Amino acid sequence: MSGSKKSTHSARSRKRDAKHLLRFQSQLLRELTTTSESIKEWRTNIRNIVAMAGKLIDFSFIYLAFATEDEACSLEFFWQHAPAPAIKDDIERMVRDKLSADPNFSDIQRNCVVTHTLASLAAPPTGHVDSDIELQSRSFVLSPPKAIGGIGMGHSGSMTWDDTDFLIADNIFTALESIVSSVHAMTVYAKEVERFATRDALTSLYNQISFWDLLEYETRRSKRQEYKFTLLAIDIDNFKTMNDRYGHEVGDDFLKAFSTILKKALRSGDIAARYGGDQFTAILPICDEVQAFSVANRIIESLREYAFTLPNDEQARGTVSIGIAVYPDHAQDAKDLYLLADTMLTRAKSYGKDRMSIASGQDDVEVIKSMGEKSILIFNAIRLRQIVPYFQPIMNIRDSKIEAYEVLTRIVLHDKVITAADFIETAESMGAIGKIDYQLIDLALAKVRDSGYTGNLFLNLSPKALVLNEFMPTVKRLLKDYNLDPAKMVFEITERDTVKNMTLVEDFITELKRDGFRFAIDDFGAGYSSFHYLKAFSIDYLKIDGEFVRSMSGDSTIERAIVKSIASLADNLGIKTIAEYVETEDILGEVASAGIDYAQGYYVQKPSPDLF
Ligand code: C2E
Ligand code: CA
Ligand code: CA
Repeated sequence: MSGSKKSTHSARSRKRDAKHLLRFQSQLLRELTTTSESIKEWRTNIRNIVAMAGKLIDFSFIYLAFATEDEACSLEFFWQHAPAPAIKDDIERMVRDKLSADPNFSDIQRNCVVTHTLASLAAPPTGHVDSDIELQSRSFVLSPPKAIGGIGMGHSGSMTWDDTDFLIADNIFTALESIVSSVHAMTVYAKEVERFATRDALTSLYNQISFWDLLEYETRRSKRQEYKFTLLAIDIDNFKTMNDRYGHEVGDDFLKAFSTILKKALRSGDIAARYGGDQFTAILPICDEVQAFSVANRIIESLREYAFTLPNDEQARGTVSIGIAVYPDHAQDAKDLYLLADTMLTRAKSYGKDRMSIASGQDDVEVIKSMGEKSILIFNAIRLRQIVPYFQPIMNIRDSKIEAYEVLTRIVLHDKVITAADFIETAESMGAIGKIDYQLIDLALAKVRDSGYTGNLFLNLSPKALVLNEFMPTVKRLLKDYNLDPAKMVFEITERDTVKNMTLVEDFITELKRDGFRFAIDDFGAGYSSFHYLKAFSIDYLKIDGEFVRSMSGDSTIERAIVKSIASLADNLGIKTIAEYVETEDILGEVASAGIDYAQGYYVQKPSPDLF
């Protein structure tokens, strides 16, 4: 305490014997035993203390000041009795002056939020508060993160304090200090919780959810204010190899190091996010192609120059590939912009990694030509309408009846038929899968109508196509044109590539389910997201991955046990199971005895251009 003028003649007539003081101590303690719930009511605690203390010691107010590094100071007064407005101002000024002498509170004159609270509504017993006030105060530092607190009591200058007064004040200060530090801890805790919801825990960059919010926001803002912004899709080259070779901890350290490099290479105001795994994104507001080029270059070069120390003390160097797309030059909304940047990233990788690739305003042909032979094949197939649906039956094992057909896409040239396995992934990375799917669905539905087929139709959907803006409306329109019952359509979702776009894909699936369409998880068991789908939606069919099914014949007891347990899990959930790659009578027998509902594969029938 400071600023005291000691005096022994107290003008009070209160009883302040040992018993009273002890009771006061215990009341103070009670105010201090705060739970995380009651800490929210901290002002009430302080009001109680002020009211209690008023019975033992003469003072007009208590103040409490609080400041953290990045926020305005707050100054709170708790008055014993309501002061006259002029006095309130005087006192406020006096406390501010006193505090601003402390370098930690140097900001308090300008940047400070002041509140006044009344501890009791009772009228002052004698006279009124005047501005002849003497201050007793204490300051303290809280950590971490650093915050500073100041507390004080003001009493009338004509009322001098004795030793007991100081002792009581000291107790009160200790109580207040403890309340302030609890409030501080709670606030920090609440902020952490909030930060973890929007930030990636490993790198502290924004997470995928925040990224999409920020991207949508930036798109709206740029549209309104008519400026360009750039999106970077960034992927660390060969990260998996590093992870496999040195372990996840080393991998995590590298991701952390890279995120620091990334932040440094960006301009202030740019936004960096970790999209998932070794994928990062950056939103560069007010940034055209030329500026984007130099930012991307800085990222690539800084990583090239960075020597990462491995656990064996050897040094390693990493590289990144970056895809660049500019709004609104290359795409007109957030989703398309992301897809384009991601496609450009794939292109940078296919050109040999450790480089960037910018979307160009040139027409598709130019872009695609640079992508190699397969891309030209696909591009031409779409243009020349060489996409043809093939159908493969799905048989009910119980009664050997064909209940459904799966549509499989083919490119049919005059001399050969190219199967989907040979071009689907390229089509996806070109961003052409949506176009293929439209044509295919259109042709398949025409065939269904013309042949009079009335069973179920299974259609493969690429998550990459699903997130395209116009995809869903187009598919829905097609189904409507052909007047088909949505319940007869089953969309097959694979795990390939889905993890990256999970939230978006989920939204679309939910919407299509609401419209009455049904869903199957394809290649179940081959990846790790299938269980996520199972949990997230009410799935209608599970298609057990062909490799699993194929290995059921012979003496592989493990595969057999796995398929059996999938079948019973699905059965419990009311989901039908389909086994792919049923290639022999043997496998059909295995599949049947495992309790699988449907079989599909060369043994039942190979895919063919004909229904029936
Ligand atoms: P998928 O959906 O798992 O399709 C099954 C694949 O296995 C098909 O290859 C089919 O021809 C083949 N197959 C069927 N029975 C057997 C069998 O008994 N043994 C063996 N070894 N293979 C069998 P396909 O048509 O080349 O398709 C490959 C993948 O391409 C498909 O895997 C699917 O993920 C994707 N795909 C096919 N058509 C489309 C399409 O129209 N759109 C989209 N987005 N993807 C498609
Ligand atoms: Ca399929
Ligand atoms: Ca499959």
